[in-house]
Amino acid sequence: MARKIVVLLGPPGSGKGTQAKLVASYCGLPHISTGDMLRTAVTEGSDLGLRVRSIMEAGALVSDDIMRDVVKSRIEKLDCRYGLVLDGFPRTMQQVQDLDSILADDSKRLGVIQIQVSQDTIRKRLVGRRSCLSCGKVFNVYESPSSSGMLCDACGAPVVQRRDDSEEVVNERLRVYTQQTEPLVVYYKKLGLLHNLDGEREVEAVHKDIVDILKRL
Ligand code: AMP
Repeated sequence: MARKIVVLLGPPGSGKGTQAKLVASYCGLPHISTGDMLRTAVTEGSDLGLRVRSIMEAGALVSDDIMRDVVKSRIEKLDCRYGLVLDGFPRTMQQVQDLDSILADDSKRLGVIQIQVSQDTIRKRLVGRRSCLSCGKVFNVYESPSSSGMLCDACGAPVVQRRDDSEEVVNERLRVYTQQTEPLVVYYKKLGLLHNLDGEREVEAVHKDIVDILKRL
């Protein structure tokens, strides 16, 4: 049986992580977020974490070689046998080629979903984002602050800003996205695999559109 492979494309702050989680749980497929995998490695202080920490903090991209190894070993796991939802990979044309070779024949059946949002929205979402150190609950200082501003409403632990959400690093992440990742949109469009969505709407509305797209695939 052909695997269902969904790729969520979009700039940082487009909500692709949230949507990837929702769609993965809807389809019963693993959610593979390379950003989450790398952050876990950094928190654990593993060899990988030590290699990527300063790169991530600067808002730059980790090398394609490292990413290929990380993604290949994850996709080879048994839970990906019926499909997977990719969030944050591929991000460069080299990664597109690496993904093709990892997926072999399945690469022709990708469903690529691009979530579009304006740069203003992105800045507000990212620079305002805070998350709980303990349970991971996410707040936004502009739109949905925690009651005290500093402690999590759910578990009382401190609420902090991700290092790479500072204004300076967000600008760098956006620059990198435009330069390295936007060409993928053109590429997947040419192959007829791309679907576009307006990501400025409520989470549920975007999710519903993604489900509709997947039903048609
Ligand atoms: P994200 O949570 O997807 O925004 O990723 C956070 C950071 O992890 C990025 O700014 C990069 O430094 C790194 N990263 C995640 N995925 C990739 C990737 N596919 N290629 C290179 N670097 C990545």
